[in-house]
This record gives sequence, structure tokens and C-alpha cells, in this order.
Amino acid sequence: MRFTELNLAPELVRNVLELGYETPTPIQQQAIPPALEGRDVLGRAPTGTGKTAAFILPTLHRLRGMEGLRCLVLCPTRELAIQVADNARQYARGSELFVGLVYGGTKVDADMRDLRAGVEILVGTPGRVNDHLERGNLDLSNVEVLVLDEADRMLDMGFKPQIDQILRRCRRTGRQTLFFSATMPNSVKSLAYEMLRDPVTVEAAPKVTTAEGVEQFVYPVETSKKTDLLLRILKQPEVTTALVFSRTKFGADRIGAAVARAGLKVEVMHSDRNMTQRVRALEAFRAGEVQVLVATDVAQRGIDVEGISHVINYDAPKDPEGYVHRVGRTARAGETGVAMTFMSGGEIGDVAAVEHLLGYRIARVNVPGFSVFADESTGEFGEEQQTTITMPESKKEQRASRGRRMGKHASKELSPEELQKLLGVVTAA
Ligand code: AMP
Repeated sequence: MRFTELNLAPELVRNVLELGYETPTPIQQQAIPPALEGRDVLGRAPTGTGKTAAFILPTLHRLRGMEGLRCLVLCPTRELAIQVADNARQYARGSELFVGLVYGGTKVDADMRDLRAGVEILVGTPGRVNDHLERGNLDLSNVEVLVLDEADRMLDMGFKPQIDQILRRCRRTGRQTLFFSATMPNSVKSLAYEMLRDPVTVEAAPKVTTAEGVEQFVYPVETSKKTDLLLRILKQPEVTTALVFSRTKFGADRIGAAVARAGLKVEVMHSDRNMTQRVRALEAFRAGEVQVLVATDVAQRGIDVEGISHVINYDAPKDPEGYVHRVGRTARAGETGVAMTFMSGGEIGDVAAVEHLLGYRIARVNVPGFSVFADESTGEFGEEQQTTITMPESKKEQRASRGRRMGKHASKELSPEELQKLLGVVTAA
């Protein structure tokens, strides 16, 4: 399908073509036609699938010629709000529709210039939009299109009261709601149910997927216990070759020393090591002379070693795409592998960002004695998401305690017993 076939106004088509978009993405193909008809849309779409254009293009088309605030886009974070507003302005080029942006952490007065000048589309975080409502700076009574972007994250961040408040002020009958979320837990479904009338459901597969055959786990663990947990994992017989990622060079050296002290053969690779040292490290690892390679992000993309059994993120990756590259080091070429990510209290957000990108939750493994969260009944994760299993001792047990496998057919490969066990272990995606 081409953009010209979507019945969008010519200037909108021109704008996206000028941006270099050749064809609409699947989520755009599915969402734009019903949105143009004024239908409500419920979209399951992670970041990177082109969802912004999927809701902004039909909105711009429908609002042509109108004046005053007609569309409100709610986003969970200021970063996303900035990005959405930037994109919306590009898509709106040449139209008479103006895009405003409001988010917390800045002076409320600074928003007033935009608001006074008049905008047709306002992008904002729920807290700040609500602030303006309370101050009487905003009138949502003419809002024809309400967009929720990343609804799951907004609920995770505790924005439900603000969203409720905002909803009460969007009183226009016949309002259209475009509702997007990367994941659909019950809290999101019930909000969608509350807000949407006879919606069209659209869905996009995540743009990024890690290799099929990778089993992924998140280990909640106190920072001070990460090294002990790592050594315990490395001593499992299944861990034949492990690539361990550290966020810093200093950390990589420290981990390498601890692994060596524990009697394992280990090499360390980071940018302070010269090329000869790096090549030697990699070759020793490749040849199976050392079992463990500790590396910083520098090594993330460059390491092409077949048959790495385990990728262990000692530190959660700071950028979610980095996770995909790291995990991509295992299970290459149809093999299977395991990816484990340690998550301290300070890394909860990093793991959430990874899950957001992937579009599903990764199984949690709480190893008794290591996890700060293991003994809490109402921790950051909530009870339903807690898992307490002991470290697998044998191949059989390890098979039985498998995490989420990658790939769409993965769950079909599990035996009923494995599935049963898994249900106790894995939180639904
Ligand atoms: P989003 O999921 O909306 O954050 O979009 C992800 C990225 O894809 C953004 O950088 C967009 O500029 C880009 N994009 C959106 N739609 C298309 C398209 N049809 N073709 C190529 N790139 C696109």
C-alpha cells in the first residue's frame, strides 16, 4: 500500500513523502482508514512502529479548517511528548493547524505563550495538562480527538487520577478516542473499555525482536549482591560460555577480577584495552579457552561468537535497543541461548524501557537471599508479578523453569508440564 491510497489530504501525503517515508507501516495501514472515518481505535503498538503518524495524520486530516483546541494528545513522559509534538509539527507543515506542547518540570507560565496564541493540537503529560485545567488555562470542551499514547506507561506512572480528571473535561459528544498502548494488562483494558466506543482494534508486531530461541529472565538483585549472584550462575554446569556486560570499564575490571578469583577462566574487553589485547581476548573466548568474557557496551555490537550459551547483563542496559544487541549475541543461527538481566532497585526503569520496546514482560526470577524484592509481598512489582524459584540445579530443572522464549511459536514448543511450571513463573506479557 502507498500513502496516496490512504485518502489523506495531499499536503499530508506530501509531508510524509518529503520525510522520506515510502510506504505506511502496518499500524498506519490499519489505523488510518478507520480513524479517518471518525471511529475510535484501540492500538497495541510498541515504540518504533510508526504509531505517532498513525494517530496524527488522520487527526490532521479531520481537523483541516478548524480553529481552537480540537485535539489533546496525552503522553507519559516529557521525552515522548517532545518527540510526538516534533513529529506532529512535521506532519502538519503547510496546514493552518498549530501544535502546542506542555510538560512538567518547567515553569507553568512558560506554556502560556503557546496556549494564548491558540493551538489546535496540544501534546502534554497528564500532570501538566491537569495543572492547566485547574488553573483555568485550558478549555477542553471542543476537543474532538483525544489521543492516549503509551497508556500502559501512563497507568504505571500513576496518572490514572489525572486522566480521569481530564476525561471529565472532554465533554464534547461524538468525541473520537485513539488509544495506544504497547502492552494490554487488565488495568489498560479497563481504561480502554471506559473510554472507547465500539473501537477498531489494530495491532503491530514490535519492530525489534531478539533472536528466536533466546530465553530471557530478569533477576531482581541488590547491587551489593550482584557479584555473588553472578558467580553462582557462572558455576552452573549449563553455563558453558558466558558474555557478561558491565556498564563501566571499572566495573568490567572488577567483575573480571572476581570471576578470576573464583577460579574461572575469564577475559575482559573494553576501550582501555588496546587492539591486540582485545583480539586476544576475543580469540581465547572464541576458542573456548576462557569460559567468561566480561565486556562493556563497546563490545556489544562487535562480538560475533557462535555458541555463547549465556548473555548476562550485570548492569541493565541504559538504552533499550542496546539490550536487543546484547541479547543478540546468544542463540545465533538457530541455536538456543539464555539472556539474564540483573535488576537493582535503581534499574527498574531501565528494564521497564526494554520491556516497553519489546512489547512484553520478561520473566522475573527471584533467587532467595539475593533479591531485595523477594520477601516483599507488595513490592514495586506487585504480588502477581513475583516469582520465587531456586537456582536450577540440573538440566532437567532448568528446562522446567524456562522463561519466556522468543518467537511467535515458542510457547507451542513447551510440554504441558513446562507450561504449567511456567505459569507459576512467568507473568503474562
Ligand atoms: P513512532 O513509532 O511513531 O515513534 O515512529 C518511529 C519512527 O519511524 C519515527 O522516527 C518516524 O519518523 C518513523 N516513521 C513513521 N512512519 C514511517 C513510515 N511510514 N516509513 C518510514 N518511517 C516512518
